[in-house]
Amino acid sequence: MFDGDPYLTQVKYVRMIGPRRAGQLARLGLYTVHELLYHFPREYVDRSRLISPFERHSGDIVTVVGRVISCQHNQPRKGLTVTKAAMECARGVFYAVWFNQLHIKKLLKPGTRVYISGKLNKGFGHFEVQVQDYEIITGDGESLHAGRIVPVYPSTGGVTQRMMRTFVHAALEQWHQGYREFLPRRVMDEEGLMALPEALKQVHFPDSHALAEQARRRFIFEELFLFQLQLALLRRNIVRMQKGHSYEPVSELTRKYIAGLGFMLTAAQRRVVGEIMADMDGPHPMNRLLQGDVGSGKTVVAVLMLLRAVESGLQGALMAPTEVLAEQHYLSLTRSLVPLGVRVAFLSGGVPAKERRALLEQIAAGEISIIVGTQALLQKDVEFKKLAVAVIDEQHRFGVRQRGNLPQKGVHPDLLIMTATPIPRTLSMTVYGDLDMSVIDALPPGRQPVRTYYVAPEELSRVFKFAARQVAEGRQAYVVCPLVEESEKLDLQAAVDLHRQLAAGELHECRVALLHGRMKRSDKELVMEQFRSGNLDVLVSTTVIEVGVDVPNASVMVIVDADRFGLAQLHQLRGRVGRGDSQAHCILSARLRSREAAERIKAMKASQDGFYLAERDLQIRGPGDMAGVRQSGMPEFRLANIIRDRDLLGTARRWAKALIGDDPELRAGEYHLLRLALERYNKEGSGYHHIG
Ligand code: ADP
Ligand code: MG
Repeated sequence: MFDGDPYLTQVKYVRMIGPRRAGQLARLGLYTVHELLYHFPREYVDRSRLISPFERHSGDIVTVVGRVISCQHNQPRKGLTVTKAAMECARGVFYAVWFNQLHIKKLLKPGTRVYISGKLNKGFGHFEVQVQDYEIITGDGESLHAGRIVPVYPSTGGVTQRMMRTFVHAALEQWHQGYREFLPRRVMDEEGLMALPEALKQVHFPDSHALAEQARRRFIFEELFLFQLQLALLRRNIVRMQKGHSYEPVSELTRKYIAGLGFMLTAAQRRVVGEIMADMDGPHPMNRLLQGDVGSGKTVVAVLMLLRAVESGLQGALMAPTEVLAEQHYLSLTRSLVPLGVRVAFLSGGVPAKERRALLEQIAAGEISIIVGTQALLQKDVEFKKLAVAVIDEQHRFGVRQRGNLPQKGVHPDLLIMTATPIPRTLSMTVYGDLDMSVIDALPPGRQPVRTYYVAPEELSRVFKFAARQVAEGRQAYVVCPLVEESEKLDLQAAVDLHRQLAAGELHECRVALLHGRMKRSDKELVMEQFRSGNLDVLVSTTVIEVGVDVPNASVMVIVDADRFGLAQLHQLRGRVGRGDSQAHCILSARLRSREAAERIKAMKASQDGFYLAERDLQIRGPGDMAGVRQSGMPEFRLANIIRDRDLLGTARRWAKALIGDDPELRAGEYHLLRLALERYNKEGSGYHHIG
């Protein structure tokens, strides 16, 4: 019974779904038959085996087939009707009870056979089942709601589970033959994947748990494979593009900059710079991810890349996720490059309109060589004369979508994305699969590991006195308070209070300032600049300093309520100290209410390695909790969980690369259906539903 194209047919054409029901399904985002059929069950309830009420205890879930003896309604109070049917089965008589389901009585004619599934309530030889699901046995047709493994759907809104099952079943009957396998034969065979039409049936109405698993595996593979194909094609397109500029050899300006650094580049930095320069000399736009732990020295690498553009009479842009970080980059570039005659400018949402207008003109005229800023750089009216290099810092704070936008500002500029590994290396290929990868895998020499301690909140006073002593020795300190959106007001107040308390108390001999995201831009700028130049000793701050802030003289990091931070954040914060050559200290204070919080603190004490901590973070969270991964701009999948399914992810990636390698356009006849599936996938936007 093939009934048209499931991808194009609206749900209202499914038997039993009228326009009204279609409206309800639309609210769940299910418009087409295909969307309905790809709305997979959240879980299954096994009602395939009969579990007799006569062998069970009160509270147990039982499944039983009974024959109706009699049935009656009553209304013990207003708003509650009870339908109670006496039923018999092989072992005796029991009662089935429904609440507020008036229509049920007419279905329960004496002699009718019914599957009953529900909770047992037992008393004095009286067996009563509170019905959760039932199904009248008619003799023909499959049972959907009982007597089998039954699907349970996610959020059904106004649509009941019974309705969902009925709709999906009807859609399957009419359309599942309309599905043709689009995964290549070779892949299916080698990976032992269940064929599409069968998988659709088994994923909704499985004949066994094993078959349900096989069906799900097929769909997990399918979405990972399409996603990886999309990345592989994206990558191939970039590789084929010709960039609109070329560079002069490295010259005087770069040499002067390096000479002024006051340190030697590490071997890792030199290797990475080499990789970047080679890309820049190539005919295709560079598309490279630079991974390196906090403090590994990514900024210098970015500056060398930007300088090469400047030396060639071209422009470069550096985009950072927060104002504080963008400003810091701006100030440090100003300090090191303006003396060399390079024109650097700053652009963020906070720049006044008049100033901004003048700036945009200079950028468009090519009078400014390097522009540093926030996402404000992506605004439409920001036009460059010749943008050749685009650097995006701390990529994990941006959605992956934004990564595509900055390059559009130029004629295929060379793109460098920098990140301090918010996710394990094993997973980064999922989000960054379309990028070449460079890794700075060693910290600059002379860095001593940060000493990390845990203290209970009662001991904080002692910690602040320690900070005061460090300040007396010429060091600087951070005190960080959490700030989360849900309790922003309270959090902000806590930071304000702590600042006041410290300035009057333990740190009264220090110059203490407050820094938080709600302050005016000019005030933030002033505070940061004073801290950087050593005119302030202690910064009490909310997490605005989390990424990128670089003050080598700071040697103490106190984190208050550390249990409210994730492991990646704690690591980032600790990375703010230990940048100079003196011993640094990180003190985590928290009340350890949960096991997870205790585990995170333990991990922080055990390691300083960002890659290790990212792995550990996932272990502590467990594969169910994807919060941290989502933050990294990971796409949302229907069934796949890239942590649980990392093996299948690797397999999907290998196949995607192999296929595109053999046949870059997927031109071969056997790929015809795959190509259509991919087009659909791109259009649906699956894989790019980013939270960003
Ligand atoms: P991140 O990779 O976290 O962005 P930064 O680029 O901010 O790190 O560098 C951290 C600190 O290390 C900065 O103070 C920077 O000047 C310094 N640094 C960078 N490279 C070296 C090096 N090769 N030797 C010594 N210090 C370095
Ligand atoms: Mg940085």
